[in-house]
This record gives sequence, structure tokens and C-alpha cells, in this order.
Amino acid sequence: MKAPRPNGYRTHWAGQLRAGDVGQQVRAAGWVHRRRDHGGLIFIDVRDRTGVLQLVFRPEEAPEAHAAAGGLRGEDVISVSGELVRRDASAINPDLPTGEVELVAADVEQLADAQTPPFQIDEDDPVGEELRLRYRYLDLRKERMRDNVMLRHGVVKEIRDFLSGEGYVEVETPIMTRSTPEGARDFLVPSRLMRGSWYALPQSPQLFKQLLMIAGYERYFQIARCFRDEDFRADRQPEFTQLDMELAFVEEEDVHEVVDRLLQRVLALTGIEVSLPLERLTYDDVMLRYGSDRPDRRIGLEITDISGSFRSSEFKVFASALGSGGVVRALKAGGDWPRSRFDQLTEKAQALGAKGLAWAVLEAGGEWRSPIAKFLSEEEMASATDALGARHGDAILIVADSAGVAARVLGALRPELAEGEPEGHDIFWVVDFPAFEWNEDEARWDAVHHPFTSPSGDLDAEPGSWRSRAYDVIFDGWELGGGSIRISDPVVQQKVFDAIGIGPEEARERFGFLLEALTYGAPPHGGIAFGIDRMVALLAGAGSIRDVIAFPKAASGADPLTGAPARVDERQLAELGVRVVQPPEPR
Ligand code: ASP
Repeated sequence: MKAPRPNGYRTHWAGQLRAGDVGQQVRAAGWVHRRRDHGGLIFIDVRDRTGVLQLVFRPEEAPEAHAAAGGLRGEDVISVSGELVRRDASAINPDLPTGEVELVAADVEQLADAQTPPFQIDEDDPVGEELRLRYRYLDLRKERMRDNVMLRHGVVKEIRDFLSGEGYVEVETPIMTRSTPEGARDFLVPSRLMRGSWYALPQSPQLFKQLLMIAGYERYFQIARCFRDEDFRADRQPEFTQLDMELAFVEEEDVHEVVDRLLQRVLALTGIEVSLPLERLTYDDVMLRYGSDRPDRRIGLEITDISGSFRSSEFKVFASALGSGGVVRALKAGGDWPRSRFDQLTEKAQALGAKGLAWAVLEAGGEWRSPIAKFLSEEEMASATDALGARHGDAILIVADSAGVAARVLGALRPELAEGEPEGHDIFWVVDFPAFEWNEDEARWDAVHHPFTSPSGDLDAEPGSWRSRAYDVIFDGWELGGGSIRISDPVVQQKVFDAIGIGPEEARERFGFLLEALTYGAPPHGGIAFGIDRMVALLAGAGSIRDVIAFPKAASGADPLTGAPARVDERQLAELGVRVVQPPEPR
């Protein structure tokens, strides 16, 4: 960090003083991190943004400063001056960047008094989330949080530098706008001047970035705040930050190529090396092998389709699954296999929608020890053993169901079977997604990505068979980003709207501006967006995205610090023409 402009508070950053500075008169400022009284001597660690520095107060040399130090408490704010000296050899702390030096305090001034904090700042002991968020400004003082905030800055800066160098222009798009559907509810803002009308906060800048391509900007990015009103989902925030990008006159490979190089640079910030190009796997392939479109491949286990072994099986469960177009798929795993473990996994499989979970343990002679062995022929079992490459002692877990259920269930069992924490990192693309998925509750097709994604395949066939030109980036089992080549033809755009139940009239009403823009010379274009919060959390090794957002909401969506969301004055509501139908109980 650049040296501070010397003033009455400080001449140096406390955390940046080194052996080379010994002999200098130094003034440092910051917070009392820790105080230790040692038979006459008082040691104080003073902390600023750059780190901590040890101060020593000697009663004979500086009686006034020593007396003042005696009254200081944790988190008091001080400015202190004196000579920087080398520590005694026995007092050197190799774990601390300033560990070879200390400041002999000649004079100390207390600038502010601190109450006893509700949790310790100098230790990273577990503290309840509610308390941390209520006193976020204290929580942010902790070293780990400071490092996270700094890393986040570094990541965003790297992105800005890299993309600017590649000719991308950062453009801000509106926060108060119309709905941009990304599959969540909108946050709405009532208009005072146009009573009864509402702004929606953007779920993403999707439509604006497409308009920017139509406007001729060619290469766009933005570090963009997005808002999605979702019911509680683990580790989601109602507002979050995306790196949003869009490019004109491009195909999939153009987007992948620049993103590959960008991700390589960003990952290198924490020493993660990846070689390019990043692997591209198809959706069908990952669903078959891992049962998920964002698998953690560091868990070695792969799913095997063993339908072929049971084509003419008389075992009713397999025969009926295969007879109705389904599959028989299995996982093979080593380890200890007491009966209870199978029962546990069966319960989990059923909770995920499987009718059951068949299992077998391979005996020394290759036979199956299994409740279903008596229904299967020798050849069937031998063929499946072979297909799985199973050996003596291995367990085989089998799901016979539709391909979707088999994938979901076995995909969810993979992490359960993993031995130990996955190591290293794994990053790759998933490409060639289906365009739609069936929404059981609403009995209609939903876009797998969003409805502006270019479909591919035979668009006269039923929508369930369409594919899309979409792609995701998966990192250690998390979806880091996703995007697509977009629809640039208004006729195709309406076809997709039709498929998801948005007729021409509704389309005109909600997205007329986009449909119209598409008639004024829309270039082929595509892009992607990355979740910055998740990206930084993964790089920081943080357990939650809340640990890399300076002022996040609690899991409930509330902010314990400011008390948001809060009630507002009747007068404000009246001005907006808004009435709360059922006023909540007074709080
Ligand atoms: N707008 C999309 C999203 O927020 C990303 C994209 O398609 O570029 O997920």
C-alpha cells in the first residue's frame, strides 16, 4: 500500500514497518488490538488496515505514555509516536510481517474510546451470525474479513483491467427498470409520480446488454448489482453482484476463449493454475456420468448406465423401468458396507423421488450378496459387474427409473459416498443444454436458462426436444457462471415465448421494446454472467458468500444492522398511493 501522507495522526502504516525502517521516528495510528502488561512493561499491538505493530511502553523512559497505555482497552483508537527498534532475538515473531521490529512509544494520544465489543476482534472464534451482522463494522475489523474484502477488490480490479485491455467497455444499466425474468420474483418500487405504476429492480442486466449490442457497442461488461426475490435458499442473497458480459458477432467459441483467459487470470490471484482451453463437456454427458449439470468431479465416482445388462431381465423392477423408456444406472463404491448404510441411502434415494434403491456387495467369487440376487440371472449380474468394473468388496447402488430420476438420485448420492474432502480444484464448461424443462406445478415449459437464449434443433418439433446454445462454467461443483448465444431474430424470439406460454400480446406488453429493437438490425450476439460473490467465496475458501460481502443480509433476508426491511410512515405510503392490506402486528 502506498505510504500515507504524513500528518498529525500517522507517518507510516503500522503493518508495513520492517527491519529496514529501524532507527526512524515513526507515528502510527489505529485500534488497540491487544494489550499485555509484563511486570512494568506494557505491550500493545496497534492495528490498522495493513496489519499490526507491536508498541512497547517503558515506565522509566516515558512515564506519561506508560500511564496512558495502562488505561487503554481493546479497540480504543490511538495515535502513537516513538522510535522503531529491532526486537530482541528472543522476541522475534516470524509469523508476523512486522515481527522483527517494535515501536518504543514516547507519546500516545487516545483519539476515541471503545466500548467492550460484543465479540473478540483479535481472535477468529465462532460467533453467531446474527451478532456478527448486527455489529458488522466490528466483524469487518477481523483479519479474515479484511482479507476477504481485499481479495474481492483484487478480483474485481483484475476483471476490470483484463476486460478493459481486451477492448470491453463498462456501461451502467438501470437499477429502476422493468422486469427482466431470470426465474425469480421481482423486487418492486412504487412510483410516486405515476401512481399505480411500479419499477422492478433488475434480476440481471440481460435485456439492456442485448440492447447495447443492438446499439453497436460490440464488447460490454459491468460489475452489476442484481436483485431476486426468492424464498429462503441456502446461502443466497436477495441482492448480489454479477460480472456481466456481452459480445456481438460471436459464436460460443468466441465467448469461451475470452472467458477462459479471464478465469485463468482471476484464479491465479490465489495461486490456482489452470491450463487452457478449459474442458467442455456436454450436458448429456455430465448428467449421465455425474447425475448433475454442475458436478464436483473431484469426487471420483462416476455413474454407469447398466441398462444393457438387463434388456431381457425378468426382474420386474428393472423390466418395467426399461419397458417404459427408463434406465438402469449404478454407482460403484469401496469402503465399509454395513446393512444400515444401505438403509440410510435407500431412505435418501426415496426422499429424492426414487421408488427404491437396489444394492449389492461383490463377494470374493464375483457373486452378488444382494436382496435382489435371486431375481437376476448369473449372466445379468456378471455383465453388470463387468460394465461397472466392480471388484471384491465393492458396493453397487442401482436405480431403475426414468433417466431424470436416476440421474438426480445417483447424482445426489455421489457426495455421500465420497471418501474424505475433495482436494485441488476443478473447472470446466458444460455446453449443449436442453432449452426447456417441464414445470410440474405450473404444467408448462420453463426456459432452462432464460427466454432470450437462442434455441437450436428442429424448432417445428415439440419444445421438449429443443436444445439451446447455452453454457455454464462449473468450479468445484458450483455454477460459477452461465450464458448463451442469444436470439437475434424477433420471429424466433416469439416462438420461444410461445413455447413457455407467453403469447404475442403478453410479449408485446412485457418485452415490446426488445422485440422492436430486434427489428432494427440486431447483430448475432452472446454473453455470460458470473456470480462475483460466489467466485470470491470460493477463492477465499469462505464457507458462505456472506463472508465476502461487506454488508450482507442474514439468511432471512433481513439486515440486523440497519433493521431493513422496515416499516415506513403512513404519510409516505399515502403519497405513493400504497396501502398495506393487512398491517402487521406492531413490533
Ligand atoms: N443474464 C444471465 C443470468 O443472470 C446470464 C447471461 O445469460 O448472460 O444468469
